[in-house]
Amino acid sequence: MPDSPEYPPEANENFEGFLPADDEHISREKRKARELRQSQWWKNELGKGVCHWCGRRFRPSELTMDHIIPIIRGGFTRKGNVVPCCKECNSKKQYLLPSEWREYMERQKQASPPKEP
Ligand SMILES: [Zn+2]
Repeated sequence: MPDSPEYPPEANENFEGFLPADDEHISREKRKARELRQSQWWKNELGKGVCHWCGRRFRPSELTMDHIIPIIRGGFTRKGNVVPCCKECNSKKQYLLPSEWREYMERQKQASPPKEP
């Protein structure tokens, strides 16, 4: 399977293996996430109105912040690891295994035909 270009290499390395994060890490990164949500950078990201995973368009109010590497797996709240995500993808990502999630994404890409030029 070819590497997806929007998937950072560091995410590929860590996503499959479970990295237990301690409580301190989780509370710190969640606090940073709350701060990042207030930032102009994040508002710009939401303003693009596109879900990172399925690529469909949404209103900014319909998008949430998603961590590519989840905080509980040792992911950090920083640009490159947080992406706008629609609620449907967000909830699916939470209960799917990483490999199942990648299959879901592949199906999403095939399901949405390329736009007319
Ligand atoms: Zn989505």
